Amino acid sequence: MSRQSQITSFLTTSSNPSPSAPSHEDLIQPSKKQKRTRKRTSWIWEHFIKDLNENNEPVIVCQVIKEDGTKCNVQFKHDGSTSNGNSHLWSAHQITKVGLQPEEKQLNSQKQKP
Ligand SMILES: [Zn+2]
Repeated sequence: MSRQSQITSFLTTSSNPSPSAPSHEDLIQPSKKQKRTRKRTSWIWEHFIKDLNENNEPVIVCQVIKEDGTKCNVQFKHDGSTSNGNSHLWSAHQITKVGLQPEEKQLNSQKQKP
């Protein structure tokens, strides 16, 4: 088998000028950007955890350490949206999602139903 020499001749005769050209997939891929890889984790999860209350209902619990050194521990029912926690962080702790995009999401964030 002279497979090696075949490959070699293929390489030498092939007129590919730049071996480091972008892969075919990049070129072929359609240009529509339907794929939204937006993180579905909200910024509030830096300050809230998910938990269950005494009725076994999903809640979110504020983890912000207050000025007196204690944890806030305020609970909100976790209905799938984060607006409760969102507004709490602002009203109680003046925490906002700085550096993130403005409120143009919320559309497909309703997915997680218990
Ligand atoms: Zn709080």
